[in-house]
Amino acid sequence: MWETLELDKEIHIIPIGDIHQHEENSKCWCNPSIETEINKDIITHNSLDKRELYETGQRKPN
Ligand SMILES: [Zn+2]
Repeated sequence: MWETLELDKEIHIIPIGDIHQHEENSKCWCNPSIETEINKDIITHNSLDKRELYETGQRKPN
């Protein structure tokens, strides 16, 4: 599950229920990936359990 948080100039995509609270900025501890759109930055946070790797098929669950 992911939460989308839309701010003035940024959209944050944050994993729900992660062990650590994420910061709503690009300097979050999770080293988020940033895509710059025309008038917004889309900041995708990385979950501590690496769930995004499963969803994109980079890693298979055991
Ligand atoms: Zn984060």
